[in-house]
Amino acid sequence: MRRRVWTRLSRKSPSTWWPRSVRSLSDAQSHPSFAFKPETGEEIYNGFLGVPILRSGRTLGVLVVQNRSHRTYSEEEVEALQTTAMLIAEMVVSGELQVIARPGTEISFKGAVSLKGTPVVEGVGLGHVVLHEPRVHVTNIIADDAPRETQRLDEALAAMRAAIDRLIANSEHAGPGEHQEVLATFRMFADDKGWLRRLREAILTGLTAEAAVERVQNDARAKLQRQKDPYLRERLHDLDDLANRLLHQLTGQALTPAHDTLPENSILVARTMGPAALLDYQRARLRGLVLEEGSAASHVAIVARALGIPVVGQAANITNLVEGGDAIILDGSTGEIQLRPQSDVVAAYAEKARLRARRQEQYRQLRDLPARTLDGVDIALSMNAGLLIDVPQVEATNAASIGLFRTELQFMISPRFPRLEAQSALYRAVLDGLPNHTVVFRTLDIGGDKVLPYMRTHSEENPALGWRAIRIGLDRPALLRMQLRALLIAGAGRELNIMLPMIATTQEIDAARLLLLRELHYCAGRGHSAPKLIKLGAMIEVPSLLWQLDEVLARVDFLSVGSNDLAQYFFAADRDNSRVSNRFDSVSIPFLRALKQIVDAGRAADKPVTLCGEMGGKPLEAMALLGIGYRNLSMSPSSIGPVKAMVRSLDLGLLETRMAELLRGTDFAGSLRDALRGFAAYHGVQL
Ligand code: PEP
Ligand code: MG
Repeated sequence: MRRRVWTRLSRKSPSTWWPRSVRSLSDAQSHPSFAFKPETGEEIYNGFLGVPILRSGRTLGVLVVQNRSHRTYSEEEVEALQTTAMLIAEMVVSGELQVIARPGTEISFKGAVSLKGTPVVEGVGLGHVVLHEPRVHVTNIIADDAPRETQRLDEALAAMRAAIDRLIANSEHAGPGEHQEVLATFRMFADDKGWLRRLREAILTGLTAEAAVERVQNDARAKLQRQKDPYLRERLHDLDDLANRLLHQLTGQALTPAHDTLPENSILVARTMGPAALLDYQRARLRGLVLEEGSAASHVAIVARALGIPVVGQAANITNLVEGGDAIILDGSTGEIQLRPQSDVVAAYAEKARLRARRQEQYRQLRDLPARTLDGVDIALSMNAGLLIDVPQVEATNAASIGLFRTELQFMISPRFPRLEAQSALYRAVLDGLPNHTVVFRTLDIGGDKVLPYMRTHSEENPALGWRAIRIGLDRPALLRMQLRALLIAGAGRELNIMLPMIATTQEIDAARLLLLRELHYCAGRGHSAPKLIKLGAMIEVPSLLWQLDEVLARVDFLSVGSNDLAQYFFAADRDNSRVSNRFDSVSIPFLRALKQIVDAGRAADKPVTLCGEMGGKPLEAMALLGIGYRNLSMSPSSIGPVKAMVRSLDLGLLETRMAELLRGTDFAGSLRDALRGFAAYHGVQL
């Protein structure tokens, strides 16, 4: 029989009043969110008890009991209503019960939905949802044999603990970057007394072991949504993961999607994901990744970027809105997500993806052609990297060199400080993989937005201006010395290029050089052969260097402009705060004059100057840089094709004349973007 219930669906009418977690009030009218709406026909009430109707973590609606009197509901009554809500959820999903939002409007949980997350890794992906942690459907809710359910729970707990122990034991034999400590903490939570007590109590209310786990998990998720403290959020995530594992044990459903038999065109959907987990999937079948919590700086995003997988982050509640197999489209450049899209939407995005693929094919065809301007000037297009998986991109893009190797990425994706051997092994593998290319290793650039979860730092009012990069390296010399030692060991017998980040004074270069010499001496004393040649460079990211360029150049072998940070400090505009970061244009007269001053000083001192910020990877900005004298730009691998296309269609002589005119201008506030676009359009430069 099909029955009907009236309920307000929180997804359709997100009101602050209707609860997403249990809410019990004896005086509802004094609650700040209470509003009396006579048009609903609702009677005046005081006692209120509301529980969410949840199914596999998805909120289907709320179940409410109201009372005229100031009634306080007992714990047993709350639990009874929660159990009823679980049964209703099951009946809704099985189709036994039909849910209606308002007269005549049936709710469909299968319709098309458009969502907006934040762009993380660009690219368009069309495919079908693969849940990174497939949801367990608990269908068996009520049990009348509590001791038996408790025994089932205990058995499942024991099996789960053993499985985690095996995971820990296995990771001991694995290479660097494994998750030993993370797993150990995780294992500790499996013995958490409060959690175990709540599970047992839930069984005593008449639930099956799996329904008990689901209820406790729902409560924890409700807490998670309210929790702002990142540490406690992380812990609640751990408990949520444990509950998932337990549910899989109890129901026999698979814990992870089959990584090696992934369907074609898979789009992974996850709340969060570790960087190593992404590497487990077959790359060729992945079309994208959608995360509830990820941002551009998250570790999995760094790996996805290296693999060329489009990513959208901050997709609120996405894991609860999708089922495995749902059609989904993501656009990593705009942050748009289309769930179960209509055919016209699919067609529009498919066209977008085709255009992009066509453009990329065009860039691929440029691979073997030189990055030479129409008037015969060769430009070195180098690549930024940071992981071993980036190395093959040098070959794929035909990059001139690795102009910036961000060594902090290894530290960011590792659960603890990588030891000397692990650091050295990575640097050696990179150098071995690129015997004919220069690699510039930048020493640790942590702090600011780059946080190491295992490193104690002090919270700072203004982290971008705080304790970061070389400042940490010089204040904690053991850290920097270990990294320099690892680099020297890996660079034995070959050319080693080391670059210092966030230099603000010449004294910092001197102090770092002293540490390098000490390590060289130390390594020689231990019988390590020295590199054939060591070059020490500095990044120009802090404007103070602009007025001591000669002194800086006298101390280094090369300079590289970190335009991301230099622009941030130049304009006093946080690079990660979109409200201010787009306020100032890097192709403006004052900034380009500053950049020109650097490249001119380098040329006068006969020292190479490169630029390795994002600016160098954008065709229009790169064109402006060539026009003021830059000849070596380092960028993300995906930018090399578009920038090469620009270079090959450019008459540099004409551009230099035009840039000189523009920089003599007086429009200090404005941007040269339109003028540069005009130049490109007029002279047929491909931007
Ligand atoms: C820069 O600041 O331009 C740079 C290349 O360094 P990062 O982006 O790693 O801070
Ligand atoms: Mg920087």
